[in-house]
Amino acid sequence: MGRTCPSYANKRRAAERKIDLGHRTMAKTKKKTIRTIPQKRTPVREQDPKQRVKNFGEVNCGYTLSEALNEAERCLLCPDPACVAGCPVSIDIPHFIAAITEKNFRGAYEVISKANLLPAVCGRVCPQETQCEGVCVVGETLDPVAIGRLERWVGDQAIAEHWASAPYIEPNGFRVGIVGSGPAGMACAADLAKAGCEVTVYEAFHQAGGVLKYGIPDFRLPNSIVEAEIDNLRKLGVHFECNTLVGRLFTIEQMLDQLGFHAVFVGTGAGYPSMLGISGESLNGVLSANELLTRCNLMGAREFPRCDTPMPLGKRVAVIGAGNTAMDAMRVSLRLGAEKVYCIYRRSEKEAPARIEEIHHAKEEGVEFHWLTNPVEILDDGNGAVRAMICVRMELGEPDESGRRRPIPVGGSEFDFEADEVVFAIGTNANPIIGQTSQLRLDKRGYIEVDNDIATSMAGVFAGGDIVTGAATVIEAMGAGRKAARSIKSYLHIRDFEADAKPSGKLFGIDMAEQNFARIRIATPRGNLSSAEQVLHS
Ligand code: FAD
Repeated sequence: MGRTCPSYANKRRAAERKIDLGHRTMAKTKKKTIRTIPQKRTPVREQDPKQRVKNFGEVNCGYTLSEALNEAERCLLCPDPACVAGCPVSIDIPHFIAAITEKNFRGAYEVISKANLLPAVCGRVCPQETQCEGVCVVGETLDPVAIGRLERWVGDQAIAEHWASAPYIEPNGFRVGIVGSGPAGMACAADLAKAGCEVTVYEAFHQAGGVLKYGIPDFRLPNSIVEAEIDNLRKLGVHFECNTLVGRLFTIEQMLDQLGFHAVFVGTGAGYPSMLGISGESLNGVLSANELLTRCNLMGAREFPRCDTPMPLGKRVAVIGAGNTAMDAMRVSLRLGAEKVYCIYRRSEKEAPARIEEIHHAKEEGVEFHWLTNPVEILDDGNGAVRAMICVRMELGEPDESGRRRPIPVGGSEFDFEADEVVFAIGTNANPIIGQTSQLRLDKRGYIEVDNDIATSMAGVFAGGDIVTGAATVIEAMGAGRKAARSIKSYLHIRDFEADAKPSGKLFGIDMAEQNFARIRIATPRGNLSSAEQVLHS
């Protein structure tokens, strides 16, 4: 583990003293009770639905300083906080909120960034209602503390004030390659870079960020915010190589055997869209939500023809599905100028997987919901484009393996549903290329198999995020990335002072003590070529 240079150590100690101040203050503060705190959750301003549907600006305007201070007062600063356990990356929530009440905003950021390098992202998109806020003690009597909004506020201050530091970190000689630059890859990269590893992140797209950039639209999470937080990783020394499709340009095996990486983390996500397999899916005007969102969010289609990416936009857009991705696709379609946007879902609103807030926003913006409806065929207009769909009405039966009531078609209920664009948002699958081009053991559905330490079937290769769990959440992917970083540190025998849970020491039954240390070698500089270029030129 590297030593830090004296000036950085002094700065860090000063920052820690500030945080300690927050801790002491917490201890000294007169005990708050549910009766003494502000009773109402501080509302957040939103762009008016009629206006916002015409632009890609953020819907949620975030707290002002006084709103953040007011909301922070609602935290009871529980000594044994359930919210921390409810957070997949275990942010020390009471201490960052205590620091806000003390107006020690930078201290609040230091507390959060110990566990999470992307607070402005997570504050915006985490489903807090089922995580930290879902178990908030205040929530047992009143509305829970708005932890996510406070996290976002701190993250936004940090970006505006450039609080992220660029520490000097002594290199430890180990090189780690990361495949995929989504939240799992980024969280893993951050922790390994802090430990002194030389980290290179390979990304297939021309920009880093994964779903945060290509999937979630600007009106929920501006790409500029994601980019600002990615910059913090660059400050830590993480190197991004975009336009690099691992598995095609070089394989995972080559990363270990030829590119000189001592360990590899695979965080390639689950971006391979599902379709229904019904007749008419190859007509013009049928596309997946991921394609629609990627064209719009990452490839500039919303500014066509100023940008080169065209977008086949219908006047009446039917989006199949009712998850967060479906809500994003519908709201993007409205902003692109569709006259009518329909949500077609085979179950009822109660079973819809999207966050309640997302459904509420989509309704406010004018999306028309058709619950208990399922398409069975897409009809041709005679010129190879979509004219309409044939749909059936559904009813709900007994709960299925997902715990939700099973949708059953109502006999003889077919009807025509007019639409000239059909967007499928019914789920995604594992990105397949890594599985097809490596020896990694996969499960039946094509996801990478890992053990409890997030190690795969190949020595030195770890995996996490959606490529292991299937589509999940940003913060869960980040939690997996951090866990992988701990396992990689253990695998490389890097002393990990911050580890709270040590990996068990076994990789698929092989005792770590018996691992082949021939793999571990000190990196040798190879000139200025990128590592991908070196493979191509070797
Ligand atoms: P990803 O974010 O998918 O990143 C994987 C990256 O790997 C991608 O950039 C991909 O291009 C790259 N890659 C793939 N194969 C290769 C290869 N062979 N070589 C190089 N690079 C490769 N979650 C929330 O918590 N809140 C939300 O509001 C939310 N909204 C969502 C909206 C949409 C439209 C979608 C699709 C998902 C949403 N999610 C949300 C889910 C969340 O974004 C994902 O769970 C999370 O991004 C998974 O992170 P990851 O790092 O595992 O993968």
